[in-house]
Order: sequence, then C-alpha cells, then structure tokens
Amino acid sequence: MTTTPAAIPPQSSTPTNASPSTLGILGGGQLARMLVHAAQRMGYGTVVLDPTPASPAGQASHSQIEAAYSDPSGWQRLLDASDAITTEFENVPAAALQFLAQSKPVSPPASAVAAAQDRLLEKQHFTQCGVRCAPYHAIETLQDVQSAPPALFPAILKTARLGYDGKGQAQVATLPALEQAWRDMGSVPCVLEQRLPLALECSVIVARNAQGQIVHFAPQRNIHHDGILSTTYAFAGAVPPALADDLVQATARIAQGLQYVGVLCVEYFVLQDGSWVVNEMAPRPHNSGHYTIDACEHSQFDLQVRTTMQLPLPQPRQHSAAIMLNILGDIWFDASGQTRTPPWQAVQHLSGVHLHLYGKQGVQRKRKMGHITITAASAQAAQQRAAEVAQALGLPFEPLPV
Ligand code: ATP
Ligand code: MG
Repeated sequence: MTTTPAAIPPQSSTPTNASPSTLGILGGGQLARMLVHAAQRMGYGTVVLDPTPASPAGQASHSQIEAAYSDPSGWQRLLDASDAITTEFENVPAAALQFLAQSKPVSPPASAVAAAQDRLLEKQHFTQCGVRCAPYHAIETLQDVQSAPPALFPAILKTARLGYDGKGQAQVATLPALEQAWRDMGSVPCVLEQRLPLALECSVIVARNAQGQIVHFAPQRNIHHDGILSTTYAFAGAVPPALADDLVQATARIAQGLQYVGVLCVEYFVLQDGSWVVNEMAPRPHNSGHYTIDACEHSQFDLQVRTTMQLPLPQPRQHSAAIMLNILGDIWFDASGQTRTPPWQAVQHLSGVHLHLYGKQGVQRKRKMGHITITAASAQAAQQRAAEVAQALGLPFEPLPV
C-alpha cells in the first residue's frame, strides 16, 4: 500500500511550550533514542512504543508504551498519543504502519518499509531504478537451490527477511554447502549473492520530504568486521569525489522511486575494478550516519524529525572532519573474560571526542552499546585522534591513506 501522509496544519507542526506536538516512534532502541534527543531539542513531545521496559529510547522519551510491535492495542495507544509517527527499524509489521497511517501522518510509507524488509523486493526496486546490484539468485524451494547458477560461487546466502549485522547469512562455496546452509536456516526464502571482491564500502544518507525535495549528506566510507559496522570515515577524500556524485544520484533515484518520505540510507560496494553496485537500504537513520550529530549543522535525526513533522528541509552542511567508532559489548570484557567498565576516563579529556552510550541494560559481545565520534579540523587530525582513542579503549581502527 502506498500512503501519502496527510498534510499537518501548519499550527500543529510548530511546537510551542503551551501545547507541544508529539512525535510517535515505533521502536525504542538507540536510533529512537537519538531521534528523541533531536525531537526534544526542537520542542516536540515524544512517545515510543517498545516491549522492553526502560528501553534506550524509553529512558529519554517523555513516555513509553510497553507493548509488542504486533499488538493492535499498543498501536492504538501510540496513535492517540502522537501527532505524527515514524519507525526506527524496518522489521515493524506492515499492518502496524498501515493501521497508523489511516488517521495520522506516518513516514516512511508502509510500501517503502515493505520493500526494505525483503531483500528480493529491494533488489527488484534497485533494478527498476537503474541501479545495479550484485548478481543474485532467488531461493524459495529446494529446486531453486539446485538450479543456482555455478557462476555465483563462492557466494553468500542471505535470508530474504529479518537479517541484520550479518545475522542470517552464510558463506557458501559449493552447491552441496548451499543446500546444507539453506536447510540450517530453516529452508526460509533466501537470496544467494555472488561474493564480490570489495575495494571499499560506502553509504549515502538522503532525506526526502512529502513535496519531493531531497537533501543529502556527503557519502561516507565504512569498514565492517564480522558483518557489523566498525568504523565510518566522513571527511574529504574518504570517498573519491566522482564516485560520491554517482552514489548520491543513485540514492536520490532510489528514494524518488519509492515516493519516500523520511531519512533513507543506501549501502554500496565498490569493487576492485572501480565499478560499484548497490548492497541494501535502510528506511531510517543509519549507524553510518551517527557522526552527523557531532560533525554537521543538522544531523540525520534532525532531518528525520523534520520530514516526519513536515518542517522545511535544509541541505545539511558538515563543519568538521569526522570518524565514528562503534562500541560493541566486547570491550566490557577483559582478557580473562571478566566484565569491567571500559576506561572512559582515558578519552574523556580529549578534545573532539564525543562519547555516546545507549543506556542498554545487558552487556553482550557484538551488541551495539554506543559509539564515539571524533571531530577535527582535518582528516589527518581526526585519524590521529581516532587511533589514540581506539588504542585506549581496545577498539579496532585502521587509518585510511589520505
Ligand atoms: P546491516 O546490519 O547493514 O543491515 P546485513 O546483515 O543486512 O547488515 P549486509 O549489509 O548484506 O548485511 O552484509 C554485511 C556485510 O557483509 C557487508 O557490509 C559486506 O562487508 C559483507 N558482504 C555482504 N554481501 C557481500 C557480497 N555480495 N560480497 C562481498 N561482501 C559482502
Ligand atoms: Mg548492511
């Protein structure tokens, strides 16, 4: 279903202290938390729906509705409490967005979220927009497994739905390995993707409003470890300028084709021969855009609030070179496996170091607990400082040759 958000009357989209409009958010994780911070700075009220008590966003929000994402009574409470609604994650039930959109402005549109929930629909959309993706083969049945083109191997098997941070993926080098991996995944619908020789990975974040205006951040370069984002480099030269222009144009076409409203992030692979393909999209602010909070005049979260509340969209300007280091739960464990508090005091006195912790209750290895953004006047200074911070906290960091 395509939903076009109804126009909010201008007076209700302008927050006043007497009667603030309220932003409703499906999901209470770290993205919602940073969205809450941005909305509150602009004077809006916030309400988040999340089943976990005192969720990261629930701790910061004016209120939290504790309900399952699939619970229609929770949707109704969110509807009653909100003036406009957005989501922090793509795996929200499509029925929830459709229900909410019947009586309040909801962005992004349910149809765009549905496309991002399913790798196959997503790839079809990219192709329709004239943006090339990695060669792939759709798998729903054992017959599909057996007819996988040999040229795709070595390949990566990815579940069509519900994958994140490299979960729901298996490297497969041969047809028998594919069959085994598919069975291990519960024989669910999957996409088999050719494993490509990557030179670098980038992402592009755009925001599009209901009037079709699109603004963008400069493409950033990303490094993943074990399928999880580790480092984002956001400074001049991190992505070659001609490539950056192409990627921004492709991302704008993808957003346009979805009649998208909100912040959209699209991930790209640049291959060793210099060509590039699109990987996937996220219909929301993205981990690779967290640096925008500290390094830009308007962050990706500001733009998400603005598109949802139908405020004007400024073209965001980056004022500092930036590097973002993700903080996973691993650094809460010492060499002998005992838990500890990471030595924050070793970095807190450094200028240009912005520590963000998400208030998550349980520490686990590989769990995203926070991030650090390093801002500086130059790429070189940012890289030096990032190396220092990474060393002090035990985080991975590889400087780029710029
Ligand atoms: P996210 O947390 O970004 O949603 P995800 O679980 O959806 O992650 P992908 O983005 O598909 O996973 O893949 C995670 C990482 O695995 C990529 O960033 C890339 O490093 C590697 N990867 C995925 N697909 C390929 C491919 N076809 N060829 C080479 N490397 C790949
Ligand atoms: Mg990804």
